[in-house]
Amino acid sequence: MTNTKMFAAFNKQTAKSFNDQKALIKKVLAGRVILCETCKQPLHFLSPSEKDVAGRIRCNKGCTDIELDIV
Ligand SMILES: [Zn+2]
Repeated sequence: MTNTKMFAAFNKQTAKSFNDQKALIKKVLAGRVILCETCKQPLHFLSPSEKDVAGRIRCNKGCTDIELDIV
């Protein structure tokens, strides 16, 4: 069935990007300079605040904005 195949492909894609995101977060937290895939600006770790309990990884433009509670 075509629909089942598409769904499986979608799940695979999601799992891959989830793992990529985790790897990226680890690198940034380790002090590596990682560039945003969209704007090619360095990603920064933002410390936890009242708004962001776990902190986040973000570029200056905001096209990359990852909450750390998924780790
Ligand atoms: Zn960006």
